[in-house]
Amino acid sequence: MTGNRRKIRSVRDKELAMRIARDRIMGLYSLSCSTDRADLARRYLEIMQRISERMDITLPREIKRMYCKKCFSPHSRESTIRLKNGIIIIECRHCGAVRRIPYR
Ligand SMILES: [Zn+2]
Repeated sequence: MTGNRRKIRSVRDKELAMRIARDRIMGLYSLSCSTDRADLARRYLEIMQRISERMDITLPREIKRMYCKKCFSPHSRESTIRLKNGIIIIECRHCGAVRRIPYR
């Protein structure tokens, strides 16, 4: 009986931890969007990605596309975005990493 109860509590704990992690991810993402400092924005996005990896949370596609996975620079301010043959090509101006995303 006690074992069963402990199991239920641990599921609740996990749900709570996931909710807190998602809140933190969204908070860090909006912080990275609102700051004028590129170094701070990179730091926020790096922490955000680390939380998502640790908690096994897949970031929303619109967030994943918004920054460089290599150096965490927000694409809006540091990158060149081109469209070619139905593929979005995002080149990070900060570290030079190139990402290709099929365009739908
Ligand atoms: Zn980069």
